[in-house]
Amino acid sequence: MTIFEKIVANELPCTKVLENDKFLAFEDINKKAPIHILVIPKKHYESFEDYPVSEMGELSAFIKEVTKKVGVNKTGYRLVTNVGEDGNQEVKHLHFHILGGKKLDF
Ligand code: 5GP
Repeated sequence: MTIFEKIVANELPCTKVLENDKFLAFEDINKKAPIHILVIPKKHYESFEDYPVSEMGELSAFIKEVTKKVGVNKTGYRLVTNVGEDGNQEVKHLHFHILGGKKLDF
């Protein structure tokens, strides 16, 4: 079981930003920007490669709810998902990083 599945199962704590029946947004434990939020599906998928195209609309809508909630929809942000070895994916449960809150210098 990955760390993020344990967070979904309430076996590990997190700072929640937004949640619905399918998705969870929470703060990254090691922030690389003033706003650094991770968005995950509650169901396990290893990476973007495994995620059904048919689910992407709902996931996109949820991500936009999060960007609106924290205000970066107005100021801008970076949306990233790392995939596999060459992508340096550390946690093998699909997640999107939302990074913002300042002009990113990396
Ligand atoms: P990846 O490199 O897989 O795209 O990113 C994994 C992210 O998960 C990293 O930014 C890391 O800081 C974050 N992370 C790792 N373990 C935990 C944890 O237990 N809780 C939270 N909130 N974030 C975590």
